[in-house]
Amino acid sequence: MYKCPICLMICRATVQHSCGQRFCRDCCEEWEAQSNTCACCRQEGMVAPDFRSRREIKALLISCSKKCGQTFRLQDKERHLSKQCDKREVPCSDCKVQVVLSSMPDHRAFTCPYRLVPCKICDDLVEFREKERHSKQCAFDKCAEQAIENKMLVERNTFLEKENARLRALLENSLTVRSSENEDGFHDNNNNNEKDSSDEDYVGSIMEELD
Ligand SMILES: [Zn+2]
Ligand SMILES: [Zn+2]
Ligand SMILES: [Zn+2]
Ligand SMILES: [Zn+2]
Ligand SMILES: [Zn+2]
Repeated sequence: MYKCPICLMICRATVQHSCGQRFCRDCCEEWEAQSNTCACCRQEGMVAPDFRSRREIKALLISCSKKCGQTFRLQDKERHLSKQCDKREVPCSDCKVQVVLSSMPDHRAFTCPYRLVPCKICDDLVEFREKERHSKQCAFDKCAEQAIENKMLVERNTFLEKENARLRALLENSLTVRSSENEDGFHDNNNNNEKDSSDEDYVGSIMEELD
């Protein structure tokens, strides 16, 4: 009833031919440039704006062309598409890219270059677009940190070795003193050999404690 027979869509700014047929104003004017007759029945006649039909058409309920599931009156279409439809595109407040409103949460969680992701090295949250740069820096820092740790380990080892040597010297001193206290002439060689091996065990247990 409201369909224009020329463009096959709902009449825009409906006009009516005196034969009763309705058309879009623009479609009708284009037709009239070629012929004064009705585009359908070829009767001659007058064309006039059809205000009643225009009102009725504006009040028609239509469903959203973006398939958001909403219905609204044709006259509210612009407002729906620009302000209410959740399938309309809006810019992401971070990256400014146009995103369908209903998929904005997905965009912000999985696509936006500004979303926060954890760095695998330091566990800090970093923007995705910064991640590569950050990771490089982080890996570099980690290397430096490890180098410092290694250096400390080497220093500790050196210290432990010195400490070992000192304790061993101390032990040997006390053994010498003891063996000279227990002085018994002919058992000396045997005694010293035995003491040497138990001596080793003793130093070994000190080293374990130090570790
Ligand atoms: Zn038309
Ligand atoms: Zn007609
Ligand atoms: Zn919609
Ligand atoms: Zn974004
Ligand atoms: Zn990091």
